[in-house]
Parts: sequence; C-alpha cells; structure tokens
Amino acid sequence: MSAGAPFAFVAAGAYATGVASLEIADEPACHGVLDRADALRDDPAALAALWSDGRVVLLDAEGNASVGHEGALFAPTGRELSEGPGGPGAAIFLGRDPAGTGWFALDAELTAAGGAGRLDLRTAAARWPAFEAGIFAQARALQHWRQRHRHCGACGGAVTFTRGGWQGRCEDCGSDHYPRTDPAVIVAVTDGRRLLLGRQRGWPARRHSVLAGFVEPGETLEQTVAREVLEEAGVRVRGCRYLGSQPWPFPGQLMLGFIAIAEPDTPVTGDELESAAWFEADEVRAAMARDADDDGRGPLLSTSISISRWLVSQWLDAFDRDALQACGAGGGSR
Ligand SMILES: [Zn+2]
Repeated sequence: MSAGAPFAFVAAGAYATGVASLEIADEPACHGVLDRADALRDDPAALAALWSDGRVVLLDAEGNASVGHEGALFAPTGRELSEGPGGPGAAIFLGRDPAGTGWFALDAELTAAGGAGRLDLRTAAARWPAFEAGIFAQARALQHWRQRHRHCGACGGAVTFTRGGWQGRCEDCGSDHYPRTDPAVIVAVTDGRRLLLGRQRGWPARRHSVLAGFVEPGETLEQTVAREVLEEAGVRVRGCRYLGSQPWPFPGQLMLGFIAIAEPDTPVTGDELESAAWFEADEVRAAMARDADDDGRGPLLSTSISISRWLVSQWLDAFDRDALQACGAGGGSR
C-alpha cells in the first residue's frame, strides 16, 4: 500500500481527513414501504400462509402493471388468483406492509385475472402514491433481472428461482445467481456560485439536468464523480459529498446522488452531451418555476420523479443559506 493510503485500492490522501462532528439524525429514507422479511424467503409454508390474503401485483412481459378503472394499482389477493397456474411458488415475494399483509408479484400471463388496463412504471411513478409506486418499482426490477437470467452466466444451463424468487440456481453446474443492481452517480456540480447543467442529444427541447454516469469496475464513487464530470463537461472536480440515493428501475440502476465542488472551468462537451453550461442561482430558480408556468425561454429541468430534481433543490437551498450567512443575516439562526 502506498504511504498514507487510508485503505487499499484508493490513492494516498484520497479523502479529506478529520470529521468535525458525527451528526447523524433520524433518516426517513432508511425505511422502505415494505418490510422485505428476508427470513420468510426460506420458509415456503409461511409464504403460502401469506398468499391467500396477500396482494399480488400483476406484470405483463414488458413490465407494465395491471390497473383498475381509475388507473390505480390492481392487486387482487392470492385467494382470488389461485384458480390459475400461478401461486406462491411462481410469484416473487416482495415483503409485508405495516399491517402484516404479504405482497407478491406474478407474471400476468400466469393468471386469468386482469385489471381494466396496463400502466408503465414511469407513468405510475409520476401519478401513484409512494407506497404503490415503490412496490411496482421493486417488482419490476426483480422481474427484469429474472427475465435476463434464465440461463447461467458460467455454463449456459437453465436457471430456476428459489427463496421467494430472489435467488437463481443453475440446474447444471449449481451456481447461485442473485439480483443485480448497477450503481450510477448523479451529481450537482457547483463552482461555489453557479450550477453545472447539461443536456443530452434527443432530449425534449431546452431540457437540462445534472450530470450522471455509471460506476466502472475498480473505482470509488468519488472517482466516478470526478471522471464523469471531466469526460462529459471538461470540468475538474475538487471534492464531493454523498447526499442520498434513488432506485432507478429503468431497468436496474441505483442512482447515488452527490454534490461536488469544482474548478470554474469553461464546459467542453464530448460525445455524451450536446451542451453543458454554468447557471446562476436565479436562472436555476426560474427553471424550476417553469414546470408550472413556462414562459417559453430558458432551460427546463427534469421531472420531479427523478433525484436529479431533488439534487438541484439541495444545491439551491445550500446556496441560499450561504448567501444569507455571507450578508450576516443568517448568523445564529437554526
Ligand atoms: Zn451453470
């Protein structure tokens, strides 16, 4: 290990030393909509007992959920479905809700029951309450993994699924396969005064967003942040901090949200972005207001289902706090 490296595989002095204080507060984001009840995945009798009164999300082969007449989630009980070839053995066990009700996901083609229509996950994310949208996202991510892991990556043998649908086992070589999630960073980059926004080719006109990119093998998240920002916009990141994450099941990513401080370099785009530029706080505030009232000019931001939007608001809040403190008005307040 090189001198001064805090641990293996990162450069010496990769992290700023010292922690001013360990302020960790209660964090609602620690809690999911369901208790995933991992222990029950190994207990077929318990899953069978939950099935009768459990709610079952029905997904078609494209990952759309069955919905009722009002466009809300259609999730019949296991009892209502048990006439078809489906059942707790064919379903994915998602977990239990706070009332103890089991939630499952099942391929819609395995049952004769159906709702009034189908809805895709992106639309549901914008319309449904967090509870239903979160369950749909979990079900869709698992379904997508299973659709693409029907054969073993080691020997090509057929894979069967166990543990409530959460584990694949190769029938030929016995290899185990687990659900995959691909990590990606998404980052609000500031030079201390302005926010860096870019736009990809093919996006709706004027749409801008913070930058994002996939983590590559063998790098830290911090290295991904610095590399992606340099590759996409030619801006040099000096440091970054993790703020929060969002499952992004389109189809199987986890977005890791950061805020980064960078040199005030003039953005230069490569292959990935059509354009990138620094925006003043007032311009960003005006862009956020355009959702409700578009004046037809200036950038538009991503929809509010994305952590991208939340990161922009986190930066704006921080900018406003700093501005308050700089003019002396914020001293001693909160
Ligand atoms: Zn195999």
